Amino acid sequence: QIRSVEVLERLSSIGQIAAGVAHEIRNPLTTVKGFLQMLRDEHDFKYWDVVFSELDQALVTIQSLLAVSKPSLQSESPTDFSLCVELENVLSLFQQETYRIQFEKKWNDKSTRIRGKRNQIKQALFNLVKNACEAIEATGVIQLEHHRTGDTVILSITDSGVGMSEESLSRLGTPFFTTKAEGTGMGLAQVYSVLHENHASVQVESQPGQGTTFTIQFPVSPIYRDQDGGTLRMSNVQLM
Ligand code: ADP
Ligand code: MG
Repeated sequence: QIRSVEVLERLSSIGQIAAGVAHEIRNPLTTVKGFLQMLRDEHDFKYWDVVFSELDQALVTIQSLLAVSKPSLQSESPTDFSLCVELENVLSLFQQETYRIQFEKKWNDKSTRIRGKRNQIKQALFNLVKNACEAIEATGVIQLEHHRTGDTVILSITDSGVGMSEESLSRLGTPFFTTKAEGTGMGLAQVYSVLHENHASVQVESQPGQGTTFTIQFPVSPIYRDQDGGTLRMSNVQLM
């Protein structure tokens, strides 16, 4: 059950449409919310809670549309950074999960750098780790592996969670696809569009009841390409 993602092009344009639509809807909704807040202060109406929770739900959805669309609109410049160092930063945000989830990190070389928009990629890593945590119902393990093969950096995130059906796998990355009661279905759409923009690819393997592995591959940053695991190749060494 391996699925490479080839819908990335499509997702980028969805992102741009999403941004336009999100702005169009967010502004009037925010205005309506403000007026309703004024009304609430003067009148006793038993459905206020419902009105506000529905409005907030709509605003959350719109916020996630903007998050998906950001890759194409944000003007962050690419920099060279280590993917696994960034992943470590992200993992520190999941400290509160360590009582039930064991995070196993496997990497021996943190020095290899990729080139890309660091904040976007960080957000994508966050979304992947969050999904992995949410897939684990009680206790479990998340394995994080990082290594370099030639001019490619490979990072995999494997969780021992609920896994996915064939049908879910085939719908991954489609905006609004979610199987969670409180889900937005925007996390992976953001991940896929960011990876696409940063010249990375993603593969998913999943087995219902066993768990899921997301493998992402980035090209090594151009200035690190002539290095082999931190050691300069003979051809680049000035022989005396
Ligand atoms: P959300 O997390 O809001 O549901 P996502 O786009 O992040 O939206 O994920 C979409 C769906 O993909 C999830 O609802 C879930 O069904 C499935 N999914 C994503 N990651 C995993 C995972 N690690 N294990 C199992 N299912 C997953
Ligand atoms: Mg998610």
